[in-house]
Amino acid sequence: MTIRVGVFGATGRMGRMVCAAVVGDPELELVAAVDPQHGGLDLRPAGGVDVDLHVLPAPEALDGLAVDVAVDFTAAAAARDNLRWCAAAGVHAVVGTTGLTDDDLDELRSLFTTSNCLVAPNFAIGAVVMMRLAELAAPWFSTVEVIELHHDAKIDAPSGTSLLLAQRVAAAAGELESDATSIRVLEGARGAEGPGGIPIHSLRMRGMVAHHEVLFGTTGQSLTIRHDSYDRSSFMPGVLLAVKAVADRPGLTVGLDALLDL
Ligand code: NAP
Repeated sequence: MTIRVGVFGATGRMGRMVCAAVVGDPELELVAAVDPQHGGLDLRPAGGVDVDLHVLPAPEALDGLAVDVAVDFTAAAAARDNLRWCAAAGVHAVVGTTGLTDDDLDELRSLFTTSNCLVAPNFAIGAVVMMRLAELAAPWFSTVEVIELHHDAKIDAPSGTSLLLAQRVAAAAGELESDATSIRVLEGARGAEGPGGIPIHSLRMRGMVAHHEVLFGTTGQSLTIRHDSYDRSSFMPGVLLAVKAVADRPGLTVGLDALLDL
């Protein structure tokens, strides 16, 4: 039996790729595409996907379409509304939208009782492996910083991946050295203070897609672990994996790790 999929943000950069990936997967069926600014338009020109669907203006338009899983790649404010609808309608959700806070995750945990929700700040499987490797390295180093580099149209900073990366490294690390910088010649020169006090530096550059680097230092040596997504297609295997697995993961799942058995 195929899984019936709806996509929020269907005409956005990620949403278009998700629609195409769903259409190309024989186990999945694209049954709805939502994007308020493009409501009523044919998905072929609007989303660049060769499927006979019209874009819907709001989640309520999914009522009666028997959607099994909804995928959300929009913006945090929109995702909050879309996810409330999913939880109320008993539709499983796979969320790639970044900018959701810990409070948002707590709310999702309480909302998703009859259907499930998987939120992953990064669907690139290599990025998930990077985080695991960083956790393994963390106890052996006394200083650590994170650099994230993204395309110049990204609206939030730092990236959700960099925050999760810093959080996981902080949890795995021993005592980290405190920052000796006492004179900040330029405000922000040492980056933003992430989880565990780990500095996060955000770069926004035309030509980039999504890149994360974690740098560990200790006496006489350093270790750099870096992941690069060169193209948004890098996220699709992880998104499809999540769409197929979310029904079997009760409540809220954060990150793809649980699906990769790392
Ligand atoms: P984008 O091109 O701006 O696409 C977002 C789309 O969502 C736009 O078409 C937007 O329409 C639409 N939208 C806005 N409000 C909506 C609503 N209430 N319901 C449905 N659709 C709505 O952005 P993007 O580059 O695709 O990125 C989308 C999100 O995914 C961002 O948060 C980004 O950080 C995240 N992301 C996550 C991953 C991951 O692996 N987890 C990877 C890449 C990106 P309008 O433009 O008309 O407002």
